[in-house]
Amino acid sequence: MVQQVISANELHKIDPVFGQLSFDDHEQIVFCNDKDTGLKAIIGIHNTVLGPALGGTRMWNYANEWEALNDALRLSRGMTYKSAITGLNLGGGKAVIIGDAKTQKSPELMLRFGEFVHSLSGKYITAEDVGMETSDMDLVRTVTPYVTGISESIGGAGNPSPITAYGVFMGMKAAAKFKFGTDVLEGKSVIVQGIGHVGESLVEHLTNEGANVIISDINEARLEEVSKKYNATIYRGKDLYSEAVDIYAPCALGATINNNTIINIQAKVIAGAANNQLANEKVHGQMLQDKGIVYAPDFLINAGGIINVYAELENYGKAEIMRKTENIYNTTLEILSNAEANSITTHQAALNLAQSRIDARKKENLNS
Ligand code: NAD
Repeated sequence: MVQQVISANELHKIDPVFGQLSFDDHEQIVFCNDKDTGLKAIIGIHNTVLGPALGGTRMWNYANEWEALNDALRLSRGMTYKSAITGLNLGGGKAVIIGDAKTQKSPELMLRFGEFVHSLSGKYITAEDVGMETSDMDLVRTVTPYVTGISESIGGAGNPSPITAYGVFMGMKAAAKFKFGTDVLEGKSVIVQGIGHVGESLVEHLTNEGANVIISDINEARLEEVSKKYNATIYRGKDLYSEAVDIYAPCALGATINNNTIINIQAKVIAGAANNQLANEKVHGQMLQDKGIVYAPDFLINAGGIINVYAELENYGKAEIMRKTENIYNTTLEILSNAEANSITTHQAALNLAQSRIDARKKENLNS
């Protein structure tokens, strides 16, 4: 039999959901539609072996529905590994709402979304992601208990972004220790791409430590504001990847490490908050390794946010949140050393550790 080679472009025509490039044995994918509010959302539940699938909701003006579906698939899978490597009893899920958060988000739309989350009876628990505010989660909380990241005034752990930034800072320090022999970032040049909720907080940590911080964003007003506040340099060039900096911190959207950018990347360390930084985990993880660039896996070092919201479910306080987040430093060093010792990419080493925890629990569950 002649085996037919199917191009990526043709694949989605044959298997619209299970054949998607980002499909990775996801347990459930829920399409939510509400004509009255204009809600179009996709909830991806990747794996619930370790616990309910927890992950934020992203509202984004996707170019098309394929893009939204693939984002939900990729992001929910990332959450499975993030919680597993962090030692949390949570599975991986994520929701995307199709639309512009600035112009299309309304209280009615958020409430309707909350009702869809509620209909899953706790199999998926939501939180905020890009395009969402704590106040949106507070609204969702009025129709379902299956939401985290709510305000402290109503029993939540508050905005997770500062904790995420602290975890990224810890991961960055560990990666610096591995690459430069010291985790002191004073004098190191760091380019932060995306100075939103997490990016700004990271800029603050870096500035306090005495790093030379360069910031980049598509939002000019934010650039001016953050630059003024922390005396950070605004990047005005055409290709930030080719900038000769010590560290590149992707804190905007994913897939910025790809065929086009890797050839130009001058940074010696990559450590940032964005989810799914590698456009292709295997190919681009290997390319970074070949170039001698130390890559701190995104799902490992940006886990501060989930540690923070997990506190709402497990009722632990700020001290434990900080302890767990600080531990990202140790896990990052462990992963980087393991990758070097086994001649595998840092991303693969992190996946292996996370997967081993899921496999062990699956075995336990089968035997019980
Ligand atoms: P945010 O929406 O507050 O900030 C994103 C920023 O990136 C915005 O200022 C936006 O203008 C900017 N941006 C968008 N496209 C850009 C581009 N091409 N170049 C430069 N800047 C660009 O989001 P956030 O909460 O700060 O999250 C940032 C990233 O970290 C996201 O990928 C998110 O999924 C991830 N993350 C966030 C958390 C959290 O706790 N908020 C946790 C884990 C991971």
